[in-house]
Amino acid sequence: MNKAISYAAHSAKEKLVPFNFERRDVGKKDIQIEILFCGVCHSDLHTARNEWQNAVYPVIPGHEIVGRVVSVGADVKAFKIGDLAGVGCLVDSCGVCEDCTDGLEQYCDQEIFTYNSPDKHTGKMTYGGYSNQIVVDEHFVLHISDKLDLAAVAPLLCAGITTYSPLRHWKVGPGSKVGIVGLGGLGHMAVKLAHAMGAHVVLFTTSPDKIADAKRLGADEVVISKNPDEMQAHLKSFDFILNTVAAAHNLDIFVELLKRDGTMCLNGVPEHAHPSPSIFNLIFKRRQIAGSLIGGIKETQEMLNFCAEHNITSDIEVIAIQDINEAYERMLKGDVKYRFVIDMATLKD
Ligand code: NAP
Ligand code: ZN
Repeated sequence: MNKAISYAAHSAKEKLVPFNFERRDVGKKDIQIEILFCGVCHSDLHTARNEWQNAVYPVIPGHEIVGRVVSVGADVKAFKIGDLAGVGCLVDSCGVCEDCTDGLEQYCDQEIFTYNSPDKHTGKMTYGGYSNQIVVDEHFVLHISDKLDLAAVAPLLCAGITTYSPLRHWKVGPGSKVGIVGLGGLGHMAVKLAHAMGAHVVLFTTSPDKIADAKRLGADEVVISKNPDEMQAHLKSFDFILNTVAAAHNLDIFVELLKRDGTMCLNGVPEHAHPSPSIFNLIFKRRQIAGSLIGGIKETQEMLNFCAEHNITSDIEVIAIQDINEAYERMLKGDVKYRFVIDMATLKD
């Protein structure tokens, strides 16, 4: 019996409440982590409120997990008790398919997410990081630098890797003109990362009060996306746009800003579908709309090392777990600068 405590949602309409449950016992290849901080991703809200129609309750959200190793299985090689450790959105995959062997476990057909996935160990669902501890296969545990503020590192495990991976895949670097759409949890990490990679970064926002912050975070220019004149000034000029918006919206106003052969990659997974984009906008300049899902384990470690090297963390507001329901409401209003992180010391039996 491996008792754990958490906050869980029991239906789409109810607030998250304290919930006791059991983790699996620590197996030979497992690491048990005492969770110290957990970031609050918009995906947590989408899932807790069943906006993707796939929630199996109770849902214990949380996939931006950092903490300390408290127990290791007999065959664990890369971690020892007392080490800092992180867990992101993935806790298992088949390990043998082409995606897994390419280090792209997030695209494995049998990937297991950190919460709300069938858990082969317990026969229940996986339960996430709004909890005091977690047991995870060593392969899916990341090394965390002690140089950075631990609470501010937590959001790198989802918001960081989800934006780092497409920026790398589309070869963003010196000489690229990159647009980031939306200055939320993902968007503010994308601005910092694209800036550190040496690109010319333009941030698109619907919130005029975020202009000064965007510049401080690394944007070279800021555009209010509701202002057609400001948008027109950037027509046909972008190599790459990363769209992190969490709500359905008109994609065409951004597609038009891509150069010939430019790509807009969608990170956001809104509750409702985007209106279908114009075919003309795509075919006349051979533009592409793509998507990207988090990142593989190897690349997540690479991103964490990149952030340690460049002194990059998330801008956070630390909250007590008792404030999680209010935090969800504030996230929906865009009232977060730019990621809530739960201090798990506030979770008591
Ligand atoms: P977030 O912190 O709530 O940020 C979303 C941002 O989108 C807001 O800050 C806002 O930026 C913009 N926005 C929100 N509503 C809007 C609206 N109605 N119209 C225009 N812009 C709006 O969310 P997040 O945690 O960054 O997550 C963003 C999305 O990515 C979510 O759908 C999440 O589920 C998804 N996600 C995907 C992956 C993946 O692997 N692909 C991983 C994690 C999360 P401005 O105020 O600047 O306009
Ligand atoms: Zn996330």
